[in-house]
Amino acid sequence: MKFELTEPGKQFSNSELTLDLIRVANLLNKKSVTLKEYQKYGNYSYQTQKKRFGSWQKALETAGLEKSKRPWGGDLSETRIPMTQLIADMQSVAKELDKKAITIAEYEKHGQFGSSAISKRFGGWNKAKMAAGLKIGRLYNSTDEDYFENILDVWQTLGRQPKYQEMVTPLSRLNISSYERKFGSWRSALESFIEYVNKKDDAEIAEPNVLMETSETLFSLDIPPKNKKPKKRTNRTANLRQRFRVMKRDNFSCVLCGSSPVYKPGCELHIDHIVPWSHGGETVEDNLRTLCSDCNLGRSNKE
Ligand SMILES: [Zn+2]
Repeated sequence: MKFELTEPGKQFSNSELTLDLIRVANLLNKKSVTLKEYQKYGNYSYQTQKKRFGSWQKALETAGLEKSKRPWGGDLSETRIPMTQLIADMQSVAKELDKKAITIAEYEKHGQFGSSAISKRFGGWNKAKMAAGLKIGRLYNSTDEDYFENILDVWQTLGRQPKYQEMVTPLSRLNISSYERKFGSWRSALESFIEYVNKKDDAEIAEPNVLMETSETLFSLDIPPKNKKPKKRTNRTANLRQRFRVMKRDNFSCVLCGSSPVYKPGCELHIDHIVPWSHGGETVEDNLRTLCSDCNLGRSNKE
């Protein structure tokens, strides 16, 4: 596959955008740039930067700048952001994480605004979630996805399907009895998990060229990406089922050096885009691979 810096319909290249961001940082003599500052001093709109790199944080990261926890620059300016924009951002974080509910911690990590500013605006985090149409419940372990996420973590550490007696701390964050309460038995918890990861993603359904007919073809997809520009881009982050399927395909080990948490305690597996998302690579299993954190970070530095 061939990449061009300037794609049809794009008036400026990624590097032009990145250089402009660096220019603003130098101008302000700062290690990070807020959206507000860029709006004032940048040559392009911050929306262009966000669209091109996936998010403001990624645009900063690409420019070698520090991520800012509050891209808008703090509570004061956040109070002027329309509620619809706050809601849209909460919804986009939920979509990115493939969850029906998001915790404050998750929002702080992935959201654009401060969770406290949002809570203040809506009169509480739960009220904000209600406004965003998200599920209300206990903040932790309230959704199936939380249970599945934990299964994935244990599975990844063991490199295989976890056994009943292995679902104990510190390997498992959740108690086996909570699985039994929720799913009836450990076996049916595993069955629900497998059913979940084998479900097709919205993105796969939306794009006929990556639609998979049967689960047998899941791991042997060999369709080259179409040249025409896709109507809608996939999420930047792989969701739980994609992460599981890619790691399973790669035997829960790094495809470059072979490291796995099974043989190397503390080894962390990451999901990496073969063609970077910022260069148009989609979040589809064909373009994803398992890397250990060392190989992943080593690669990122070179980019
Ligand atoms: Zn590695």
